[in-house]
Amino acid sequence: MPIATVNPATGETIRTYEALGPGEIQRRLALAETAFAHHRTTDFGVRSRLLNRAADRLEQDRDAIARTMTTEMGKPITAARAEASKCAKAMRWYAEHAEELLADEHPADADVKDSGALSASVRYRPLGVVLAVMPWNFPLWQVVRFAAPALMAGNVGLLKHASNVPQTALYLEELFRSASFPEGCFQTLLVGSGEVEGILRDRRVAAATLTGSEPAGRSVAAIAGDEVKKTVLELGGSDPFVVMPSADLDRAAGTAVTARVQNNGQSCIAAKRFIVHAAVYDAFCERFTAGMRELTVGDPMDESTDVGPLATEQGRTDVEELVDDAVRRGAGVRCGGRRPPQLDRGWYYEPTVLTEVTPAMRIHHEEAFGPVATVYKAADVDDAVSIANDSPFGLSSNVWTRDPGEVRRFSRDIEAGGVFFNGMTASHPALPFGGVRRSGYGRELSGHGIREFCNVTTLWHGPES
Ligand code: NAP
Repeated sequence: MPIATVNPATGETIRTYEALGPGEIQRRLALAETAFAHHRTTDFGVRSRLLNRAADRLEQDRDAIARTMTTEMGKPITAARAEASKCAKAMRWYAEHAEELLADEHPADADVKDSGALSASVRYRPLGVVLAVMPWNFPLWQVVRFAAPALMAGNVGLLKHASNVPQTALYLEELFRSASFPEGCFQTLLVGSGEVEGILRDRRVAAATLTGSEPAGRSVAAIAGDEVKKTVLELGGSDPFVVMPSADLDRAAGTAVTARVQNNGQSCIAAKRFIVHAAVYDAFCERFTAGMRELTVGDPMDESTDVGPLATEQGRTDVEELVDDAVRRGAGVRCGGRRPPQLDRGWYYEPTVLTEVTPAMRIHHEEAFGPVATVYKAADVDDAVSIANDSPFGLSSNVWTRDPGEVRRFSRDIEAGGVFFNGMTASHPALPFGGVRRSGYGRELSGHGIREFCNVTTLWHGPES
């Protein structure tokens, strides 16, 4: 894949970039190693000041970087601005909380004594140079949610961003540099995915985090496994959105629309499979389909646009193939199912609702990375849980109910990294984020996220004589 900014709203190539050569990659690895030797010794107060400065700068740059993101991957400009603001907030959150999240731990006196020690404690130390392989869909947020905790913990970062968001990738390096993080603390490597193996195998790289597709995750995890290096994987999702009879149906249907089409339908935590109790199935389908039809599809730079183009031409082809396969095998199309006829340029696809979906269809098992919803009818709670879990993924989930018994049941039985009741899944710096099954492993955000790239060190002091 060439490293280039190609506007998905027009298909026009705006700018192409040369990939870094082997010599430059080596120079940057050396720089990262040197930066880590210093950064690991700095205290939380220093790191916190730098990260808050980066947040200030990001807020100043918000409108400009939002335009860059929208130009590179097509998200609506309003969502791009919100993403930049959210990143600044997460930076401030880690700047404020990292010290307490990584404070030394002290086991109970009886246990310390039982271990034969006079004293013992646990300390979180940084691992070193962490390679981040990142996707284009939230080009700032995916990186910041790794970089903010990693830098606060004393690690340094190397970013291999998706090849279609080079300007955002370069901005991120500049952002941390302008905040006075020492040279080498955060570097963007403009390289293709073929270079990842060599970088990850380099002895100076301690660990890797990858957010992206399952094939990319599998490849990076295999290399890291071979090198015995720690990884965190945030992969795909096909989150269920369950609606039970006690739900507030208008709110559920309205939220369902937003949860499906956020980011032009290209979010790992977008609700993708709508599982509706038979008693409210018809009423929900009517409201949900009406909401999907009413969306404004068009130029993502326009303030009133709800759904812009898909980020790449291939991405749209993938979505079209999933829908065509489902329709060929008998799915019903309540709305959409085609390119918008009024938009003759760019990689647009109409918000689509499919019903009568069966396990024989690819879309039942695969992630639809575009504005396409599948709706299932569930006979009862057992059936809803069973359909929700009938997916290779397990990232997050949404359940709409006012019945406490059902809340207990879904909390216990949905196999996913999150269950959001009467709302849609959204990430927050204080809440752990990540999945199970093919959605990956490890967690980002919260205390769990910052500790992923720490060496949990036992300090044990025996009697001196
Ligand atoms: P992708 O094709 O896997 O790309 C992600 C990153 O991995 C890019 O930087 C890409 O580089 C690189 N890459 C691709 N193949 C690789 C390989 N074999 N070895 C090493 N690096 C490789 O995914 P995407 O299309 O950008 O993103 C969409 C996917 O990401 C969806 O499945 C979505 O659900 C998932 N996602 C998950 C989360 C989460 O938190 N769980 C969040 C967002 C997105 P190039 O661009 O150079 O190919």
